[in-house]
Amino acid sequence: MFDGLEVLENADLKNYCTFKIGGKGTIVFPKNVVELKKVIRECKKNHNDYFILGNGSNLLFPDNNLSTILVSLKHFNKIKEVKKGKIFVEAGVNLFYLNHFLKENSLGGLEWSYGIPASMGGAVFMNAGAFGHSIFDFIESVKVLHNSKVEVLKKENINYTYRSSNIKGIILGATFNFSYCHKHKIDEKQQYFLTCRKSCQPYEQFSAGSVFKHNIDKKIIPAKLIDELGLKGTKIGGAEISKKHAGFIVNNGDAKAIDVLAIIEYIKYKTGEDLELEIIYVK
Ligand SMILES: Cc1cc2nc3c(=O)[nH]c(=O)nc-3n(C[C@H](O)[C@H](O)[C@H](O)COP(=O)(O)OP(=O)(O)OC[C@H]3O[C@@H](n4cnc5c(N)ncnc54)[C@H](O)[C@@H]3O)c2cc1C
Repeated sequence: MFDGLEVLENADLKNYCTFKIGGKGTIVFPKNVVELKKVIRECKKNHNDYFILGNGSNLLFPDNNLSTILVSLKHFNKIKEVKKGKIFVEAGVNLFYLNHFLKENSLGGLEWSYGIPASMGGAVFMNAGAFGHSIFDFIESVKVLHNSKVEVLKKENINYTYRSSNIKGIILGATFNFSYCHKHKIDEKQQYFLTCRKSCQPYEQFSAGSVFKHNIDKKIIPAKLIDELGLKGTKIGGAEISKKHAGFIVNNGDAKAIDVLAIIEYIKYKTGEDLELEIIYVK
């Protein structure tokens, strides 16, 4: 089906997500847009669902085998400086590497994202954010593959809100604007934000970040609600509500997806709220 392309069959999905949970699945690694189009065409022809895999830092894979084909853009990994301060970043670039590049080039603005284990494509798709900033603050346009055509979407034509965007299609890359900042200042800020992150999140444990979205309308902060109910440390199988941050569920080593799903249901039951998931359960 994917003749001539890089494919991993029977891949251990736990190695492709930060939760370190999951059964087996097929992952395709197109090297360019031509190959990516071929992957999509083949999936459609064979009536196979496909799912774009970023760095897997917001995903929960099922325990059984996944029939959905995962499409990784890890080979879309280039950064190009268009002109001073304006850079084009391909979707597969991870945020650690991007932050390193920005520091080396004295470009400031994204330091708050240092430590988010995401790919740029995933961060844009989810409108990742922290410490009062979000990735869209710096975006000029997003390049996508949509209906077999490459299009450039200007920021003003994209609807992005808290932890979501309405981008249709596959994000190939994005153009960002950053401002000049002294290298050592950038370094200082990156380390500061990483330290904050490590002090309040279970950073050394396997997780997929915040499990639930804030409910802006009802002013519900799930982590606060869960904490107030004394649910930190609740365990089902190998999954546990983090003792450090009630908004995270951590995998103690041998957690199954069903353990995580059971804790999610337990939290909804205890809070009495139909909390919206931020993590994505890939089926
Ligand atoms: C320790 C930890 C800390 C975290 N801290 C934060 C935080 O501070 N702020 C925050 O916002 N999030 C945080 N997260 C969650 C997560 O990192 C973000 O949601 C991130 O944006 C996901 O990016 P990813 O590349 O891992 O995407 P994935 O998890 O692989 O995918 C997420 C979604 O994006 C889609 N997607 C990925 N790439 C593309 C693409 N190229 N085109 C179209 N769709 C695509 C996927 O199909 C999926 O729907 C944290 C997670 C962890 C584990």
